[in-house]
Amino acid sequence: MISGTVFDIQRLCVHDGPGIRTTVFLKGCSLQCFWCHNPESLKHHKELMFFSEKCMQCKECIERCPEGVHTLENGEHLLDRTKCKTCGACASHCMTKALSMAGVTMTVEEVMEEVMKDVEFYKTSNGGVTFSGGEALLQIDFLEAVLRACKQNSLHVTIETAGNVKWEHFERILPHVDLFLYDIKMMDSLKHKQYVGADNARCLSNVEQLIKRGKNIIVRVPVIPDINDHDKDIEAITNFVKHINKEIPLELLPFHKMGQTKYESLGLDYEAKHLEAPSQETMQRLNTIILKK
Ligand code: SF4
Ligand code: SF4
Repeated sequence: MISGTVFDIQRLCVHDGPGIRTTVFLKGCSLQCFWCHNPESLKHHKELMFFSEKCMQCKECIERCPEGVHTLENGEHLLDRTKCKTCGACASHCMTKALSMAGVTMTVEEVMEEVMKDVEFYKTSNGGVTFSGGEALLQIDFLEAVLRACKQNSLHVTIETAGNVKWEHFERILPHVDLFLYDIKMMDSLKHKQYVGADNARCLSNVEQLIKRGKNIIVRVPVIPDINDHDKDIEAITNFVKHINKEIPLELLPFHKMGQTKYESLGLDYEAKHLEAPSQETMQRLNTIILKK
């Protein structure tokens, strides 16, 4: 039985493709963007999240944890994450949801059971199912199997990807995908490597292949202050895409800080804390560039 690691399934989504959708988030990514608003997506393995503001210090987790991860010291709930085996015992007994596991193992059947709950909404809104991450294409065996199941149920399928995987992974899912939402972050390969941990060669060559094969694609650019919010950054991406096919639409997604508390819950530093969301003027100016090409 094929299974994958899923860190969230969100129903009634309206920003992840056309209509009303269910978005399935697969864990693990081949890029490590420091501004990512889903930090629980970055690692492949399961992780324990602790939201201190929800903790009422009932001590249930201290009793449930066989590894001695949790302690209360001077009224403060401390975690020694180095001892955590991510068994989930503490999280499943935390009444306030101060503790939760990022990542559960799910079979294709279990994902489909969730996804099919809103099939009537998909029909009335021309919606469907979106697979996101992390990088959904990294779990290619699981993804291919679940996409086949979606198509057996005649569901519209969207994939959100940054494309930093082997082209063979795309080839395996092409027959089952209706729309790609494809992130391009920057054209400068050295800068790409510096900020997201890998150069952009595969990302660019894969999107080019998809466009040349006539796949339905929307290119999306996360606008990150000081990283890629200058006119020349957006011009370079727009020129690259329009040179392949001038009909391909581009969208700009402004940076936001909604993921900050999740970094804290994972015991991680939030390296984007000094950044501010781009102003309306900046977004308008950059949108003018993608629209006039
Ligand atoms: S079980 Fe939950 S609420 Fe109780 S002490 Fe642990 S984290 Fe806090
Ligand atoms: S997930 Fe398991 S090992 Fe980790 S803190 Fe909770 S009970 Fe302990």
